[in-house]
Amino acid sequence: MNLSEIKSQSVPLMIINNLLSRNRLPAAVVMHGQNGVGKFNTALGIAKYLNCSGENRGEDNCNDCSRIESLTYPDLHVFDPEGKQIKIEQVREIIRNLSLKSFENKHKVFIIKEAESLTVEAANCLLKSLEEPPPGNFIILISSNIEKILPTILSRCLIIKFGILKSGDVNAILRDKYNLSETDADYFSSICGGSVSNAVCYYENREQIVENFEFLKQGVCGVGQNEMPDFMKLLEEISSDKWSALIVLNLLLEDYMKLFLSGGCPVELKRIAELRELIDRFKVSSANFNLRLSLENFFLK
Ligand SMILES: [Zn+2]
Repeated sequence: MNLSEIKSQSVPLMIINNLLSRNRLPAAVVMHGQNGVGKFNTALGIAKYLNCSGENRGEDNCNDCSRIESLTYPDLHVFDPEGKQIKIEQVREIIRNLSLKSFENKHKVFIIKEAESLTVEAANCLLKSLEEPPPGNFIILISSNIEKILPTILSRCLIIKFGILKSGDVNAILRDKYNLSETDADYFSSICGGSVSNAVCYYENREQIVENFEFLKQGVCGVGQNEMPDFMKLLEEISSDKWSALIVLNLLLEDYMKLFLSGGCPVELKRIAELRELIDRFKVSSANFNLRLSLENFFLK
């Protein structure tokens, strides 16, 4: 995706385009915001702008831009967590690469995804490089949980916040890029909280998610004794995966908010506030946060 194709992010794009056009993009940038709102595509758009050999700087799909899009450009380095962490060996690889000459004699771009998963050791190792990378190198850290990134890292980077996408923009992406039918695009763009990756994840797991959601919805109003074993099992299942638990809980929250606003909500506002609090705690929870216990405490009240 080129920078001009990024949707709903007028403020971050204005900042980035302004810096790029003046040749003033800092060498270390943090892009943060919810998953699935265009941060990675923006980072690729920047890499295209910096390395494009066409006339329209990243907008004419030249050979360089195409290779960046397919992640095969030799001066583009993308790092994902290995397991659940970005490890020190990965950062050492970045540092080694920083001092090498670029293959294409232009700019090297390093994109670190889920930068909140840098181990403390890896983050400390990266600090010096963020401060003074050799000219022609750009390091872009992407995160959906900036609170977990060390302040010493953040203080060395330009921080750009990405908001959620407009539902109409998600809808268009789902139809154009993921070939969803109009009905599916309408539905999943309306429940995804402004995130394309949420929408796609809900769509791919729709049967299971809807089933879990309906069962939990019932659970907020109280579970009958006969259903208790199945309900406990469901809580255990969804608590084994934070991401899927968040999806279902967010669906539940959105559903109750809609019902509340239309005056037909079966639960009190206090319970909705508790649900929101539970979701917020999940989002920032650490590895030793007991997901299952929190769910049981909420649903089995
Ligand atoms: Zn190009």
